Amino acid sequence: MKVFKQFTFDVAHQLPDWPGLHGHSYTAEVWFEGPATDGYVVPESLLSEQVEAVRERLDHSYLNEYIELPTSENIARWIWDQLRPKGPLIRVRVFRGSIGFGVEMDLDDAKAEGRA
Ligand SMILES: [Zn+2]
Repeated sequence: MKVFKQFTFDVAHQLPDWPGLHGHSYTAEVWFEGPATDGYVVPESLLSEQVEAVRERLDHSYLNEYIELPTSENIARWIWDQLRPKGPLIRVRVFRGSIGFGVEMDLDDAKAEGRA
């Protein structure tokens, strides 16, 4: 079975092909998969504490301080790297609803990049 947690965050960044400091509102989903033999795919603390810690780090931050090239793709990679050690992560989605654009990183992508 799979569970996911969705959260939103507002950030500032600068990109080489879009210079100038500016901000975006993002929504992210993080997905976990497991057998849920005890009734839960992951412990509630993973969703409420570990995922929340990632959201708090991102929210109202200047991404360039800790993500070298803060595109949506690299934000997804950064979230993946934070949460993969914490639980059975299988998918990260990052999207900007205002423009209808999003990225998805799954376990196959992570394996291909040596991040699994
Ligand atoms: Zn931007």
